Amino acid sequence: MYNIIMDFEKVECADNLEMSYVSNLSGGYVSRNVQVFNQIELNDLNKFILKKSVFGTPIFKLGNGRNKILILSGIHGNELPSQIANIRLLNELVNEKVNNTLFFIPFAAPKATMENKRFFNTLDLNRAAHVNNSLSNLIIQKIEELGINFVGDFHSTAYNSNPGFESIFSTKSPTAESFLIANYIARDIDCRIIALDSAGESYKGAVEDVCNLKRIPAVTAEVLSPFASVGEGSVERSYLQMKSFLSYFGV
Ligand SMILES: [Zn+2]
Repeated sequence: MYNIIMDFEKVECADNLEMSYVSNLSGGYVSRNVQVFNQIELNDLNKFILKKSVFGTPIFKLGNGRNKILILSGIHGNELPSQIANIRLLNELVNEKVNNTLFFIPFAAPKATMENKRFFNTLDLNRAAHVNNSLSNLIIQKIEELGINFVGDFHSTAYNSNPGFESIFSTKSPTAESFLIANYIARDIDCRIIALDSAGESYKGAVEDVCNLKRIPAVTAEVLSPFASVGEGSVERSYLQMKSFLSYFGV
């Protein structure tokens, strides 16, 4: 894989929105995943996002402000609620004046979302963010290149899997603010917090951990939903997590 350096370009159908790509080797027909497709309103913006996702991993930029904040989803292609919630959030905020710079990656690996699979080309992207030029590492590179200061990575978890309940993951070291953010969200929307001492100790290559090791505060948020499908209320909970994450920064 290689990294494509590409400038952001204005999105025709939305006034304040710009788009670039993280990778052009990760594209897929997200619309073939009917569970996702059925939950997405077919307006001009969403048609545009689906079309662009065929050719890679799009990243969207909205607003101009001090904090640069990334809302990330689809690191596991079969975790659907957060990907749908991310699209909804983008649709909602695109018409509002935002006081920070917001970045959105709704489908980290459109191919994996199309296939409704956890892995992208046999790779667990949340164990590969430290591997040079893996797709999740390209996301890290993009985060650094754009000077993004805060990252929310939104997932889902099924019963009898790990962690198996709605929760916000964070670590206290080396980036203490991650814990503060996780604590804020957990209190705000009443869910559990999983706070580990140090990033990248129990396993390697999570996007959240690699960010934290680079001193970029990051949290992982989980909602409860069966894998490869959309649990009742799970999109709303994921959406709430995203809104709460943003409200920490006064968005
Ligand atoms: Zn996940």
